[in-house]
Amino acid sequence: MSRVFNFSAGPAALPEEVLKQAADEMLDWHGSGQSVMEMSHRGKEFISIATAAEADLRELLGIPANYKVLFLQGGASLQFEMIPMNLLAGRPVADYVHTGEWAKKAIKAAKNFCNVNVAASAEDKSFTYAPAFADWTLTPEAAYVHYTANETIGGVEFNWIPATGDVPLVCDMSSNILSRPLDVSKYGLIYAGAQKNIGPAGLTIVIIRDDLVGKASPTTTAMLNYKTHVDAESMYNTPPTYGIYIAGLVFQWLKKNGGLAAMEQKNIAKANLLYHYLATTDFYRNPVAPSDRSRMNVPFTLKDAALDEEFLKGAKARGMTQLKGHRSVGGMRASIYNAMPIEGVAALVEYMKEFSASKG
Ligand SMILES: *Cc1c(COP(=O)(O)O)cnc(C)c1O
Repeated sequence: MSRVFNFSAGPAALPEEVLKQAADEMLDWHGSGQSVMEMSHRGKEFISIATAAEADLRELLGIPANYKVLFLQGGASLQFEMIPMNLLAGRPVADYVHTGEWAKKAIKAAKNFCNVNVAASAEDKSFTYAPAFADWTLTPEAAYVHYTANETIGGVEFNWIPATGDVPLVCDMSSNILSRPLDVSKYGLIYAGAQKNIGPAGLTIVIIRDDLVGKASPTTTAMLNYKTHVDAESMYNTPPTYGIYIAGLVFQWLKKNGGLAAMEQKNIAKANLLYHYLATTDFYRNPVAPSDRSRMNVPFTLKDAALDEEFLKGAKARGMTQLKGHRSVGGMRASIYNAMPIEGVAALVEYMKEFSASKG
């Protein structure tokens, strides 16, 4: 068996240890005589798995007691819609910060429900930076302020938390949650699809402050109402049981490896390796403002796009996959989430050096 260094933006690489443990437990979880996939979500075995997963996530992120953790489905994309349905609470306007492809989708979804005030936009520079807070034009009576902590496609990450005062701060953390320590108390709601940095696709995590639950607009149906899922402890309908199990193993892996502070140091080291190399060459180029470069997704272009296919072929031959950039921006993108070991980034940089030398 040989495993590749998988640079996919999502679904993305998972820690090998986690996959091995899941394989070991596949046919018989902890002497129960069954796979986790075959368990009743209401049985004591699965309840113990879900309870441990939530407790470990709470510990890792230091989630305060007045926040609920929900294990939902529908991806981050469903949250683009559930957020306005549940948080507008009769207010006509919400503030959104436009930083790229994912912010754009969140804005488009919200426009079905309210007036969207684009409080700041990086469109003037092709979404290559995170707009400074001083330049945000916020609406005092906004129901909430939404931003995208890490633009997975553009490779732009916020290294700071906006201070929105009494207006709840809502954040799409799909592609950088658990990559560093986080002060959850600064947020009203945090959401993330699992398939970037948590676990398999199909699970979506929502962390919501108590006082924001139970304010859905009157036409909101049960499945789309956070209160339904809070009241039923994420078991109103069958939750994505196997996804919750794997996410739980990832949380244990993070705890065993020093938690989020240690993970952040590893992620900084990996990102530095790649960005420092990019700074030494003009064969490759990353367009993002240095202070806003993502530690998770590193897009770069080759000097000559005609070399892209050859670059990708050579990478694949060396066991490095999924480096092709998003179709909307072209070029390359290396996604280096928690599960990517530094050896993978080192191998990529070595190959990039070799490739550029061979092309003079
Ligand atoms: C991947 C991604 C999404 C979309 O997630 P789905 O689970 O496919 O709905 C939204 N926002 C960000 C930042 C993402 O990286």
